[in-house]
Order: sequence, then structure tokens, then C-alpha cells
Amino acid sequence: MKKKLVIVGGGFAGVRLIRALGRAASRLEITLVDRREEAVFLPLLPDVVAGKVSLDRLLFGLEDFCGRRGVEFINSAAAGLTDPHTLLLSAGRLLPFDFLVLAAGAEPNFHGNRPAREIALTLAGKADAERLQKRLEEVLSRGPGHTFLVVGGGYTGAETASALVYAGRRADRSGTAPFTVRILELAPEILGNLPEGIAVPARREVKRLGIEVTLSARIGEVGDDRIEVDGEDIRDCTLIWSAGMKAVDLAGELDFPRDKQGRLKVNDDLTLPGAGHIFALGDTACFTAGDRPLRMAVQFSWAEGSKTARNIRRILKGKRPRPYRPFDYGYLIPCASGRAWGIILGIRVSGRLGSFFHYFMCLFRTLSWRNRFLLVLELAGLKRVRGR
Ligand SMILES: Cc1cc2nc3c(=O)[nH]c(=O)nc-3n(C[C@H](O)[C@H](O)[C@H](O)COP(=O)(O)OP(=O)(O)OC[C@H]3O[C@@H](n4cnc5c(N)ncnc54)[C@H](O)[C@@H]3O)c2cc1C
Repeated sequence: MKKKLVIVGGGFAGVRLIRALGRAASRLEITLVDRREEAVFLPLLPDVVAGKVSLDRLLFGLEDFCGRRGVEFINSAAAGLTDPHTLLLSAGRLLPFDFLVLAAGAEPNFHGNRPAREIALTLAGKADAERLQKRLEEVLSRGPGHTFLVVGGGYTGAETASALVYAGRRADRSGTAPFTVRILELAPEILGNLPEGIAVPARREVKRLGIEVTLSARIGEVGDDRIEVDGEDIRDCTLIWSAGMKAVDLAGELDFPRDKQGRLKVNDDLTLPGAGHIFALGDTACFTAGDRPLRMAVQFSWAEGSKTARNIRRILKGKRPRPYRPFDYGYLIPCASGRAWGIILGIRVSGRLGSFFHYFMCLFRTLSWRNRFLLVLELAGLKRVRGR
């Protein structure tokens, strides 16, 4: 009898795991469950907003991918566990498993602000990018006066704000965005968790792009077309929430320890405490290396998918799983102006070279050859970007 492997989430970690299983896949009955039909290449979403690449280039069809590999694909949301060996899907269906891999990613963290959750736009998926593109079109068709308020001055907030400016400048013949872009940051500085050598030039770029920054900002009442910030009533505005991510709700439905971002705490082999047959990977997992939890990043999701494939192969051979030893290649803070700042293999990189590394990483991690090829053409300006 083949062992049943159920994977929740066909993002970086889930897809990598299926690919890395290789021939061991034929000794398993594998089911991939995802609430979406496509995996989305999230790091390039700001480039879609900026009009640099088409949204289609970021999508990777899961049904086709699974079909080619003899994996069953179920397009549904996982809702929880009914017992240690049965997954409950949102439509009520029960899926028994021998091994379960939770790789369901993360979602925007509204920190309990319900009005903002109802009104704000986010940038964490395909539908989000479509909504933001639509709003941009509406705003551009109306003329000046609108304000985009980006809540959160972390790297995604700064990147999103720069993408909006870039989109506005492109659309307007004068080369200036016909709307205001403003970052609202609760802390006394934007990009405050980065080393000064990276944060300072990145902040300078934000300023150079004409993005207004309000520090120590307190958001008050949130209405349909108005937002109160530090007592100031801002009208004709769009709220874009970029104030951090947390593990998806599914993680909260499970009776296992979590960190403050709601991520499931994992053992050194990425299994859950007391459940050696359940793995958590990528943004859903909190893996502590030394005394610090790993940040949410593609490279770790990818590596954890590979490691778990190797460990499942070992378990099938009657061997013990081996611990995951993360290697950090570094990080980059990209800006739509074609500059990026960060650290690669311990060396500080900046400006155009940083941007080159960012796109190189994106192309390297892109899930299909077709998308990779078309992305190169679009980024090089050799192919028209759809929807621009
Ligand atoms: C705008 C943006 C920019 C980013 N830029 C970078 C960057 O430059 N570099 C970098 O390293 N990282 C970046 N990240 C973070 C990076 O994208 C994530 O760390 C990575 O996608 C996590 O991979 P994953 O496999 O854990 O989850 P994901 O790739 O998010 O995949 C999770 C999958 O699970 C599915 N799912 C969710 N809930 C359920 C459920 N209940 N049932 C079934 N399926 C479910 C989702 O539909 C999705 O397909 C960025 C993220 C965002 C949002």
C-alpha cells in the first residue's frame, strides 16, 4: 500500500517539495490542496503594479503541474484537522494522510484593525494586484488630487510605494505622478529593522522619488474614502496595507505552538512538536536558527521544500529524518526605480547592481521556463507588458 502524502499549499515550498521528491513520488499517493488554481510569484507583484511585467508571467498553473506528475490536485482551502491523521477541507471533505505538509504561506497582518481589513487594499496575491491595477486606472482617469496611503514602511511598503510612483510617472506625459504617494509608519523611521548602511540609501531613494513619509503615524478612523491620521482627515485616498505578514488562518486552527506572527513552531527537521508525520514549511513555519527565527523569504521556503523531500525519502527507507541547516544567501530591498540595496553572501550591494541581483534571483526561482523566458523579454523591453 502506498503511503498518503497530503501537501497544503502549492507555493514555493509546496512545488519545490513535489519536484524534489523525484522517483520517490511513485512510492507515494500525493495530493496537493490549494485554495487557488495558480501559484503566484509574489516578489514580482510590485513590478506588476509598476507596469514592468504582466501578471500572467507570475502565474503557475497547479492543475497542469500536478497532472504531469501524477499528483492529485484539489482546488479547495484546508480548514483544520479532525484527528492527527485527517485533514478537513472547507467544503467538509475529509482527507486521510500518513504525512501532511503545511506550506500555506502567509497573509497581510492587520493587527486586529477590522475597519482597515474591510477597506484597505493589499499586495499579497493575484486578486490584490488586479484590484490595485484597477484602482490605479480609475485614479489616473480622474486627474490629480488622489492620495495613496501605504501603511507600513518596511521593505514591501517602500517597494509598493515606489511602484505606484513609477506607474504614475509612466502614465503622465509630464513624467510626474498625478497623485500623491505617502507612507505611514508607526515607528520613528522607515526600514528601521535594517542596518544603517542599507536603510540610509534606501530612505534617500524613497525621498528622491517624491514619496511623502509620515513617521510615528497613528491611524484613527477609517472610512470608505477618508482616513484619519494623527488627527488629520485625509479624503480622496486609497489605503494600502503593508504593515507586516502573519501565517495564514489555518495555522491558528491547529493545536500546535505558534510564534507572534502565528507561524507554527517546528523541530529542527521541520516537523511539528509531538507530530513527526506533520511538517510545516515556508512562511507557515517558524524555524529558529541559533536564537533567531528565520524571516519569511523565498530562499528558505525553497530549501525547506527540498529538505522535506529528502527527509520523506529517508522515512520511506526506514531511516530517521535529518535536521534542516539553513543557509542565508542574503536579502535585497528593491525599488521600482531600478535600484536595490542589501547583502548577498555577506557582501553589501547597492544601486543598479543590487537590482540586477534581485531580478536574477527572481528569474532563477521562477517556477516555469516559459514564464522565465517571457519575463526576460518584458524586463528587457522587448515584449509589450499586458495591461499597461
Ligand atoms: C509583495 C511581496 C514581495 C516579496 N518580495 C520578496 C523578495 O523580494 N524576496 C523574498 O525572498 N521574499 C519575498 N517575499 C516573501 C515570499 O514571497 C514568501 O516568503 C514566499 O512566497 C513564501 O513561500 P511559501 O511556499 O511559504 O508560501 P506561498 O508561496 O505564499 O504559497 C502558499 C500557498 O498556499 C495556499 N494556501 C494558503 N492558505 C491555504 C489554505 N487554507 N488551504 C489551501 N491552500 C492554501 C496559497 O493559495 C498559496 O498558493 C515577498 C512577499 C510579498 C507579498
